[in-house]
Amino acid sequence: MSRIQLLPDILASQVAAGEVVERPASVVKELVENSLDAGASSVEVLIRRGGISLIRVSDDGSGMDRDDALLSLERHATSKIRHVEDLAAIATLGFRGEALPSIASVSRFRLTTREAGAVAGTEILVQGGRIETVRDGGEAPGTQIEVRSLFYNLPARRKFLRTENTESRNVEHQLHLQAVGHPRVAFVLVRDERVVFQLPATESLRSRLRDLYGAALVERLLEVAPGKQPRAQIGLSGWIGGAGVSRQTRAQQLVFVNGRAIESPVLTAALREGYHTALMKGQFAVTFLFLQLDPAAVDVNVHPAKREVRFRDPSAVREAVVEAIRRTLESGRADWQQQFRAPAGGTTSVSSVVGVSAANTVSALFPQLAPEVDRATVSAGENTQFGRDSARPSRSANPERSQGEESYEPSGELATAPKSQDFQIIGVLNKLYVLMENTNGLVLVDQHAAHERVLFEELRRRMEEKGVPSQRLLLAQTFDLPPRDAEWVERNVGTLQKMGIGIEPFGAHTFKVDSLPTFLPATDAAGFLREVIDSLRTVSSSSSALRLGEDMIAKTVCRHAVKANDPLRYLEVEKLIRDLLECELPYCCPHGRPTMIQISHLELEKKFGRKV
Ligand code: ADP
Ligand code: MG
Repeated sequence: MSRIQLLPDILASQVAAGEVVERPASVVKELVENSLDAGASSVEVLIRRGGISLIRVSDDGSGMDRDDALLSLERHATSKIRHVEDLAAIATLGFRGEALPSIASVSRFRLTTREAGAVAGTEILVQGGRIETVRDGGEAPGTQIEVRSLFYNLPARRKFLRTENTESRNVEHQLHLQAVGHPRVAFVLVRDERVVFQLPATESLRSRLRDLYGAALVERLLEVAPGKQPRAQIGLSGWIGGAGVSRQTRAQQLVFVNGRAIESPVLTAALREGYHTALMKGQFAVTFLFLQLDPAAVDVNVHPAKREVRFRDPSAVREAVVEAIRRTLESGRADWQQQFRAPAGGTTSVSSVVGVSAANTVSALFPQLAPEVDRATVSAGENTQFGRDSARPSRSANPERSQGEESYEPSGELATAPKSQDFQIIGVLNKLYVLMENTNGLVLVDQHAAHERVLFEELRRRMEEKGVPSQRLLLAQTFDLPPRDAEWVERNVGTLQKMGIGIEPFGAHTFKVDSLPTFLPATDAAGFLREVIDSLRTVSSSSSALRLGEDMIAKTVCRHAVKANDPLRYLEVEKLIRDLLECELPYCCPHGRPTMIQISHLELEKKFGRKV
């Protein structure tokens, strides 16, 4: 007898199931994708015991006639592609014709389906891949698929399942992906007879996100800003977290390519790079990002579960994403500035009392409010130097004050005629946090983080204008690099030199470095270069020059910025805040830590029990 045999169909399906059907969540994914491909406007998913005991997906889509229903259970049977050319431009979620037979081969399976207008529907019962019953069914138009006892005939597989709770969570996450990807479709998830969510159909992604994640998160999202010259091939839209909105996992980092939720190292790297200094180490940005590409520019036929894709031009995709993220983060700045600059409530009445001259000065500058240490050094001369009106009355200079002023009105004590668009400094806490007041309540500024951000952007600007000043090493250093690193350096010698790194090839895999940027300690040139190579190899080519500079700057800036315990003079504090508000990304320091925190009146009132 020959040793090679064709596998029986059912066994072949079970083998395929190994790739397509990993766990209950993958069953849900395949079934919901089928419903969406069938044009459903409403999809209901019910699971019991993590989906292990039951998964039921019902839709109001096109339904199937009896012949199609039977065919749909055959391997490689699909209505979605016909010719090899179709593979090059797939516009549906499914196309492999594998899911239904695979799922049916590892479960007790029931399909009921009916086309709109058909007299009767069809019901098919399948047991471990074997069709047992085909009969008329009387359900509403659409399709309903029940999958019971998943992997009952594949005990080895069953053992790989996690707890019911974990499997339920996976299903839930999977449905989140689908729901965010298709706001126009209503979704219901029922878990063990309890409704987990019920999402009405909506035209707007934003309201879908609100229904799913709550208003608090949605408030902190920025709409992806349209580019000035949108790239012809790549459309980008969606909502992304502003600086400081991040998670410890990638669970809320959703990316869709042509409506399909995907995982892609290219896109993960692009997101990180786009956020760059706006993200703390180890944190993941929150994104609901949609890429629209020519279907011919993406290959989805990479992975049986269609989770991964291959881009024809990955670097163009990466560039587009990086650019969109940067643009969007910066677009949130105006609102942010507005928020922190908004005047504190109740100040207007006071300003009219303090005096006309004060009413339209740039800001309140009151030495008596400065931190103790340097109060005395703030002189009138410095005032003018900062463009302030030094002749303005202040509490200490003018202890009697205007008669009309209510002396026990607390905001009156502090409010000192800010311009209508201004913040107000109250003082400095613990030599670190600047306290300010604005319309919404209290603002805390981390002076170190703020200064880092200001220095960072200043240095970067200088670097972009004049290049990086570099410094000769006393002794030139040579070092060897492994082939791929060497190749990278050879290709990027020009860029590296522009960044102030004097490097040149010095033999096959050997390089010589004779100068480094001035703001770097010159002790370990080789070590530094290895670091640079590692961090830059993953970065896209066109932004790498900038990125390299940014990394170097971020490191140096941290050492030079004012430290927690450096007492700042009042004027310095004020200038710092002003400079910060002018930054491109004022919300966080170059390492992604927040620079300012708002504590609203409401939060305070709750703390004091004035509101519940
Ligand atoms: P694929 O989705 O890759 O085509 P499947 O095995 O998932 O393969 O489904 C096989 C076929 O069954 C689909 O091409 C489609 O024509 C039909 N089908 C599956 N689910 C549904 C559904 N919910 N509504 C209508 N038709 C469906
Ligand atoms: Mg399918």
